[in-house]
Amino acid sequence: MRMQLDRRRICCHEAGHSVAYMVSGDRVLLVVADRNVSLTEHQEELKNRARANSSRSGPGYTIAQKTERMCERAGCSGEITTDPYNSLMIRLRLDADCESCMELLTNHIACIYAGGVATDLLEPGGSAINRATAMMFETQDDLAEIERIVSGSIQNEQQRSALKDRALARSTEWISGESAALLAMRSALVESGVLDGTVAERIIRTALSSTRNL
Ligand SMILES: [Zn+2]
Repeated sequence: MRMQLDRRRICCHEAGHSVAYMVSGDRVLLVVADRNVSLTEHQEELKNRARANSSRSGPGYTIAQKTERMCERAGCSGEITTDPYNSLMIRLRLDADCESCMELLTNHIACIYAGGVATDLLEPGGSAINRATAMMFETQDDLAEIERIVSGSIQNEQQRSALKDRALARSTEWISGESAALLAMRSALVESGVLDGTVAERIIRTALSSTRNL
């Protein structure tokens, strides 16, 4: 079976992650849809810092800066923070029995699902079997990361799969509601292969639906 990397699919995948990060209130720092494009010194530094906490090897990647959040339920000490020495490293301290904590986790996981959700929605071309193979290849890193995060936060198997279902549904809702932003990002990525966070955020913000306040 051919494993040709379709540039447009990769761009769409990374566009999905970027849009979801923006919708969830995080910052986008760097989007790479073509590993052959040379990076600036600053971009290279971001890449190395991000790599310190991930073993991702997919065709592209989106580097985001997670906004630190405390659980809103009184008495709960749940929080999403970042490492003081590497702000790209995320620390999750969440209570699986706290609804507000699981809400924070759902949003985080929705961002990771968003790449696959975006290509699924916007790249209907090709035969079903090629699509399925491409999808498997493109999303394996994301799915592994989701497994790692969810099993680190929730012990109960049923609770884990319920949270993943909810995150996938939320991701689909975000992505299908923001297709203009997604298409704008995809085009920009097809054009350049790499986008600085400031540029990506501007593109996304301009095209986001007016109901979002960012
Ligand atoms: Zn909580």
